Amino acid sequence: MLRKETDMSNHKLEKIQCFLLDMDGTVYLGNQLIDGAAEFLQFLKNQGKEFCFLTNNSSKSAAAYMRKLANLGLPVERKNLITSTDVLIHYLNKIKPGACLFPVGTRYFEQELIKSGFDLIYEFDASVDLDYVVVGFDTSLNYEKLFAACRYVRDGVPYLASHPDFNCPLENGIYMPDCGAIIEFIKASTGVAPQEVVGKPNPLVVELLMHRNKVEKNNLAMVGDRLYTDIALGLESSITSILVLTGESTRKDAVEGDVHPDFIFGSIKDLLEELQKLRQ
Ligand SMILES: [Mg+2]
Repeated sequence: MLRKETDMSNHKLEKIQCFLLDMDGTVYLGNQLIDGAAEFLQFLKNQGKEFCFLTNNSSKSAAAYMRKLANLGLPVERKNLITSTDVLIHYLNKIKPGACLFPVGTRYFEQELIKSGFDLIYEFDASVDLDYVVVGFDTSLNYEKLFAACRYVRDGVPYLASHPDFNCPLENGIYMPDCGAIIEFIKASTGVAPQEVVGKPNPLVVELLMHRNKVEKNNLAMVGDRLYTDIALGLESSITSILVLTGESTRKDAVEGDVHPDFIFGSIKDLLEELQKLRQ
């Protein structure tokens, strides 16, 4: 473990009341649970501490993630999960509740927006008073949608996006083009950047958690395997950040790069062992 402030930092770790947890690379890898993840959650429950999983993936529903976690032996309630679609809805409710939207997303993305009271338009119509184009990780993307989105943006309609990731890593070194790549397409065609990109590392994620789960910022920590989304969220939100080395980033990246976590652990199991030691 890397200690930035020696004993004071350890004290900080012990005081954490709510852990925000990245999923892939932190608690599981593909369909394989990472050693210590189930025990970590059990420890938090036993200690009366809270947790919330975070995903930037807006292509699937929250229910699909809850099913996946349950299948891996991590049953969670809806309050224990935030998707970037949740953050987008939180942001839209702040700036324009009931807004009229053109979605570039999957049917799950569309359904969550409809459930939250937004009006959706599915094709280009110059006579419609559209408020925003909203871009998610659209695995059902086609040229017609991109064309319509670009026409609206070129006509001056602002657009929002669910997260900045360029690629979604799959198993065996395969990458799927993600929301960030779709943003780049719209930007290349129109010359316009999104008004807001809401998922990790945008502090809106932590704002939503505080608002929804009634937790205090002082006692929050973000645990994840990616420096530029997970650890950056910790830094942008001024909460404790904990890097685990079971996913993308290495210790060398963390030491030599621009984004420095407060703590580095080999895995969630090592973090659990440190917390157990602190309890003794
Ligand atoms: Mg990850």
